[in-house]
Amino acid sequence: MIGADGGSGTVRRLLDVAFLGETDEDERMLLGDVRLDGSDRDHWHIGQDAQGGSVALCPLPATDTFQIQAPVTPGDTGAPTLESLSHIVDTLIGPDAVRLREATWLSRRRLNVRMVDRYRVGRVFLAGDAAHVHSPAGGQCMNTGIQDAVNIGWKLAAVLHGADASLLDTYQAERLPVAAAVLGLSSRLMGQGIGEHGADTERMLQMGHTYRGGPLAPAGPADAEGPSAGDRAPDARCHRADGRRVRLFDLQRGGHWTLYGFGVRPRPPHPAVRTVAIDGEGDGDPVGRADGADRPGQLIRADRHRRRRSPGGR
Ligand SMILES: Cc1cc2nc3c(=O)[nH]c(=O)nc-3n(C[C@H](O)[C@H](O)[C@H](O)COP(=O)(O)OP(=O)(O)OC[C@H]3O[C@@H](n4cnc5c(N)ncnc54)[C@H](O)[C@@H]3O)c2cc1C
Repeated sequence: MIGADGGSGTVRRLLDVAFLGETDEDERMLLGDVRLDGSDRDHWHIGQDAQGGSVALCPLPATDTFQIQAPVTPGDTGAPTLESLSHIVDTLIGPDAVRLREATWLSRRRLNVRMVDRYRVGRVFLAGDAAHVHSPAGGQCMNTGIQDAVNIGWKLAAVLHGADASLLDTYQAERLPVAAAVLGLSSRLMGQGIGEHGADTERMLQMGHTYRGGPLAPAGPADAEGPSAGDRAPDARCHRADGRRVRLFDLQRGGHWTLYGFGVRPRPPHPAVRTVAIDGEGDGDPVGRADGADRPGQLIRADRHRRRRSPGGR
């Protein structure tokens, strides 16, 4: 069973798994989806005042609504209404610049920064907000949850197809440190304005997460430098052996394992692994291949992290 029932999830509570961290009662926010007049749907509109209060109107794709995020007025303890939100919008964006017409839902949100201390209890696994909730800064939460789901997904499938059940223990070992790192990053970003994220912008893309040194990618001497097992497999333009151009990400699409052989057709280590012979020079050194005689293959996991290099493409 996977408990992916959100930050207030019942599964985690029933398992009595601690949700460690803090709830900031002072950081409250009004949220909702609204229909409005006076704003184009091509941009995310943000109005700010000199005191740092801000209201955001985000056009939701494939709908005629905007998600609105607004501060709670000091002393306001009531449920949000269209009228109270209209007042905030008038104050922060300008009187009558935007007219709220209708709300499909409105809510209050508290800032929670919490995570579990275990991802697994027996046959139950926790994933997504059920396992970690963050500050919204940096847009990290959903991406982290989706990566949880992909990680446990391929492992469960593998065990159902005969892999050793101990593979499931690697879910927590790989994902818990990532959740902790993301929690730290999003908390740090919380105090900054949009556009001030500087060096953290790259980390916000979550491209650099690695399972290097974890149970499925123990660090070895050969991994001291350059890309190694556990790292996210990068994209690159390459040539197939028959000369056709191809992107590595296209070859990995579909949730299967992929084995690349450079200059050779690799032998599949398992029937479910898709093998690809790659020839010619790519536009970089995407997979850390060596020159000359040592042309290692690269085994890429279903979640697009490297499993290992294998000399000779096998
Ligand atoms: C305003 C706002 C902006 C955000 N912006 C971003 C962003 O830019 N980037 C980002 O990555 N993340 C963002 N997030 C966070 C993101 O929405 C969440 O991280 C994500 O939705 C979590 O997904 P989840 O599936 O784990 O949980 P949820 O989305 O909470 O889904 C849990 C589901 O379980 C269901 N459920 C609960 N209990 C039960 C039960 N007992 N039985 C059956 N079903 C149940 C719920 O109805 C719900 O459908 C934002 C969140 C908010 C509120």
